[in-house]
Amino acid sequence: MIQFERVSKRFGSWTAVDTVSFTVDEGEFRVLIGPSGSGKSTVLRMINRLIPADGGAIRIDGEDIVSLKPEELRRRMGYVIQSVGLFPHWTVERNIATVPALLGWPKPRIRDRVTELLEMLNLDPRRYRGAYPHQLSGGQQQRVGVARALAAEPRILLMDEPFSALDPITRASLQSELSAIRHRTGTTVVFVTHDMDEALRLADRIAVMDHGRMIQCATPLEILTRPASPLVRDLVGREE
Ligand code: ADP
Ligand code: MG
Repeated sequence: MIQFERVSKRFGSWTAVDTVSFTVDEGEFRVLIGPSGSGKSTVLRMINRLIPADGGAIRIDGEDIVSLKPEELRRRMGYVIQSVGLFPHWTVERNIATVPALLGWPKPRIRDRVTELLEMLNLDPRRYRGAYPHQLSGGQQQRVGVARALAAEPRILLMDEPFSALDPITRASLQSELSAIRHRTGTTVVFVTHDMDEALRLADRIAVMDHGRMIQCATPLEILTRPASPLVRDLVGREE
């Protein structure tokens, strides 16, 4: 579904992503892991075209992303980052409805979708629909961030360290909610983390990056039993 083919990205003379190739199948949960600065966020931001690639090709369903219209990209992909970035003066409902509203969905359909998403993320719609972000805990805000990304029923969800700032218990519940949602909806997920436990828990396949290069693409079992390099061994062995 997503093909990343010999993609590179330079910032000035610095090569942040160096001829990286990988694929993501339809419905797959793909985790990108690697140390800070290894190029993970840059990869994600090229997939949703926040920044252009310098070389190589990125295809979604066989189509080069360069040829997709902005609204087409928005329709196909949801994006969640660590600092949720909810609009502070908007209610939960309006925050979640951002993309469907831009896409011109009718109001009743948006309202039903918000209800459905809040229920999916264990937030009581009667209590939280009209709440403002500052009235929510960090975990609840991140749930709203996930709901906002899923609002227009994208087939692809891109997540950049979405749970890294949360305490372990909240993080564990968001991980299991996310797993349930993606199994229920069949959404394809590309999930960036630097936490191997999280990667092993969530991924169908893991791609390990280091210094802008892809150093291993494998299933969690293969990563555990046959780490391709000392870095991968170190990530697997690292204590929390
Ligand atoms: P990661 O998400 O794995 O921590 P990033 O993709 O954010 O890594 O960054 C990879 C490298 O590219 C880092 O060295 C970072 O400093 C550099 N980089 C990222 N974005 C920019 C930018 N907009 N301008 C200059 N350098 C950048
Ligand atoms: Mg990053």
